[in-house]
Amino acid sequence: MNDTLTTLLAAGVPLAIVVALATVLVRRRGNRPSDGVDGDAPGSVLAPPRPGEPAVDETTAVDVPVAAPAPAAEPAAGAAPPAEAEVLEAEVLEPEAPPLEVPAPVPGRLARLRGRLARSGSPLGARLLQVLSRDHLTEDDWDELEETLLLADVGAGPSAELIDALRTRVRVEGVKDPAHVRAMLREQLLALVDPALDRELHTARTPDGAPAVVLVVGVNGTGKTTTVGKLARVLVAEGRTVVLGAADTFRAAAADQLQTWGSRVGVRTVRSDRDGADPAAVAFDAVRQGRADGVDVVLVDTAGRLQNKAGLMDELGKITRVVTREAPLSEVLLVLDATTGQNGLNQARVFGEVAGVTGIVLTKLDGTAKGGIVVAVQRELGVPVKLVGLGEGPDDLAPFDPEAFVDGLLDAE
Ligand code: GDP
Repeated sequence: MNDTLTTLLAAGVPLAIVVALATVLVRRRGNRPSDGVDGDAPGSVLAPPRPGEPAVDETTAVDVPVAAPAPAAEPAAGAAPPAEAEVLEAEVLEPEAPPLEVPAPVPGRLARLRGRLARSGSPLGARLLQVLSRDHLTEDDWDELEETLLLADVGAGPSAELIDALRTRVRVEGVKDPAHVRAMLREQLLALVDPALDRELHTARTPDGAPAVVLVVGVNGTGKTTTVGKLARVLVAEGRTVVLGAADTFRAAAADQLQTWGSRVGVRTVRSDRDGADPAAVAFDAVRQGRADGVDVVLVDTAGRLQNKAGLMDELGKITRVVTREAPLSEVLLVLDATTGQNGLNQARVFGEVAGVTGIVLTKLDGTAKGGIVVAVQRELGVPVKLVGLGEGPDDLAPFDPEAFVDGLLDAE
């Protein structure tokens, strides 16, 4: 810059003008973001190039950065500090990565969270017990029982079944003391929830060492991304290693949300750095990364736009086809919001037809007294509820345990 100013002076430009020009140049320089900050995608560490890997012909090319488990401090977009301050920041202000969290132990979670099963409204179990404990049960009482079941979203078929079974037992055994009534109702409710169903989450690696791939599907807003984050913690608590795939590329914040969940427990997130990228490409890269890292499980969050059935089928079908080139699907989990009643059942029907669902995650059971949805949705899809969400806390996801669930319904006040 000095040379330029000297040249201007030599050419006869007045000193005042040269000084003013120099001041402007110095100011501009000070405000310019430093090299390497403004061009970087925030919050992402680019995955190293992977030469020689097979092309994925069904996917459009995307740059899929792999987010490091615990990202270093990120500059806020558009707020890069002046050059002088950067030296200070690098040396002094660089915050340390927060310590990793230790997720709560998994066994017994549902029993611990039982009080939340019927936090609002009139709980199913308590109302049933109240009617059943009457001395002589009239037709009106039986109608009231059936109505209670229907209002709790148990569904018409299962409700009628339960009433029939109870009527028979009351006829044979009579209604004795409250403890007996409770035991009878407990047995019948348990039969309805069906303890014989296989509720294990299949997350074992394949014989050739590929990670188990769990695809998580469902309509946006049901708690899908949150569930993926909570599930990662469940797996980490059990000593498993995990990679997350942010294939919900249509909701701008979903990848950030997922990455935050992962980084808290040291789990890597594979994501695209642009909205609207091909979800199948991101899912594929997540599984490939999981294989390269040698992890046990890859959890893939997908987009759940309420679009037409053909579109949904296309999208999930493509994800499945592309992913299964790397590793087979171990589970397809459908996330349903327990507070949405019949609407949730309609969603279950559509996803059940297009996605080959192997298990249901029922979220927000803490926000409804309608625990009967567990029964209805299992009947609707013919697949078991495997996990339930019971709050917004990071460890408020529990493996579904029929006994603890029924006890929760009966004990709630
Ligand atoms: P997505 O659009 O399906 O990915 O939904 P999100 O994961 O973003 O969740 C939507 C909202 O539901 C968030 O505010 C979550 O905190 C909330 N949520 C998720 N699971 C539960 C749950 O089990 N209980 C409660 N009370 N809220 C939940």
